[in-house]
Amino acid sequence: SWVTDMAARRAELTPARIAFTDHETGVQLTFAEVEAKANRAARALLARGIAAGERVAVLCHNHADFFVLLFAAQKTGIVLLPLNWRQPPAELAPVVAASGARLLLHDGATAATAQALAGTLALDLVGFADALLGGEAPHLDTLAADLSPAPLGETRIEAARPWYLLATSGTTGTPKLVIQTAEMAWANAVNYTQATGLAGTDRTVNFLPLFHTAGINLMTLPLFLAGGESIVLRKFDAAAVLKLIGAGRLTAFFGVPAIYQAIALEPGFGETDFSALHSLGCGGAPMPAPLLQTYLSRGVTVCNGMGMTETGPTVFLSDPDNAPRKIGSVGKAQILAEVRLVSVAGDVVEGEGEGELQIRGPGVTPGYFGNPQASEAAFAPGGWLLSGDVARRDADGYYYIVDRIKDMYISGGENVYPAEVERVLVAHEDVLDAVVIGVPDEKWGEVGAAWLIARPGAEIDIDTLGAWCRERLAGYKVPRSFRVVDDLPRTAAGKVQKHILKTRHGESGR
Ligand code: ATP
Ligand code: MG
Repeated sequence: SWVTDMAARRAELTPARIAFTDHETGVQLTFAEVEAKANRAARALLARGIAAGERVAVLCHNHADFFVLLFAAQKTGIVLLPLNWRQPPAELAPVVAASGARLLLHDGATAATAQALAGTLALDLVGFADALLGGEAPHLDTLAADLSPAPLGETRIEAARPWYLLATSGTTGTPKLVIQTAEMAWANAVNYTQATGLAGTDRTVNFLPLFHTAGINLMTLPLFLAGGESIVLRKFDAAAVLKLIGAGRLTAFFGVPAIYQAIALEPGFGETDFSALHSLGCGGAPMPAPLLQTYLSRGVTVCNGMGMTETGPTVFLSDPDNAPRKIGSVGKAQILAEVRLVSVAGDVVEGEGEGELQIRGPGVTPGYFGNPQASEAAFAPGGWLLSGDVARRDADGYYYIVDRIKDMYISGGENVYPAEVERVLVAHEDVLDAVVIGVPDEKWGEVGAAWLIARPGAEIDIDTLGAWCRERLAGYKVPRSFRVVDDLPRTAAGKVQKHILKTRHGESGR
């Protein structure tokens, strides 16, 4: 099946409306300008000798020109590979090599990394966005003498053809490269827009990294397709975001839990007027209930949702009316996502119950790039994507993410989901964040080890916290060790990397 060229159609519908505003420079792009720039970028890439189906790597901080590139890729069939600018060249090199990309586009901030990569991989380097290049260094905007802004011709896009590749967050290990298609983007846009009422009158802010699905699909691309405005920040800045909210510049917002935490800790949070925001979404990691309450007590409802890089991502999103009554729920599956729960025995769970979450629908990826074995292993017969997460459905049909199957551990023969223990720990007033991992134990097989971050100004007393857990949890769920730290190893998406904590625990000999 086919879809239309997104930038071209949007430019026809609302040419003069603002699509992107650069927060740093104030530069604005209308939908017509995005389309014109994307046509020029497409011609520049083709002039550089890149053909449909070939991969082009991109290294940049957030910038409207990244979306221009994304639309240029859609027009030409070139497959974009956004790279994680937090990774050193040594970590990026194997990713780029495996993709087969010959060209790397970069901005000003990432020029040094790009040059280091080009040194080891013989890459063709081209600057774009704010890359200020001296001398002969090529820039996308001036790559060929005649870069016409006129449409390229064909505006039908094959819905299922690879459009760009995105790495998973790498929470459980090495990130996997997930194929993203226009069909997936449309399914996500419909799911997110239907759930939140997103429209052309809306404005959001873009700061989540563009090398993960949230930076692109939550919610900049859905809002672009609706004809709304995205204010682009190079990267997250809690003070700047709070100021935009207070000034009434934003009507819709999406953040991962770590972002909501950072905003709540920002001086001025208590005085900021959130009333211009009609939709606030979160997801990607468990949202601590006390944090939701912090926002609720200010009259702000944050709607928890669930998705994966493999699913576009939006699968679940809670509705604002029910979110306060169903704290901890991710709501119901959205209009274009089909879900089921499957028990350990392999039976489909009906009604109230718990099982592995499996997902199907137009938002689901065709597979992992260059890894047919992993792609095959990711699906159950019938095209159901195995999420690797355990979920629970309540009597009203609302879903709760219980935990990742990988993170569950067995203590004295009993299954323990760390997420349940973490919820009890963060409910204590002195605890800002808590992570529990299963570690080997001679007597019990495995026991819980807790890593804690204290709330600013508070001190955690371990004996008190132990007693707090024993009052609220079965004995086998209470962690056997607690340690207070200043920081936890996190992915760029703000998720705690438990596998790193496990290694650290082993090394410390505890
Ligand atoms: P990797 O697959 O590389 O280990 P990852 O699974 O964290 O990393 P993503 O695709 O970014 O990579 O994240 C999807 C996962 O995030 C889901 O499978 C689920 O475990 C978790 N997740 C997403 N939303 C929520 C949520 N609202 N509550 C709890 N967990 C969530
Ligand atoms: Mg995953």
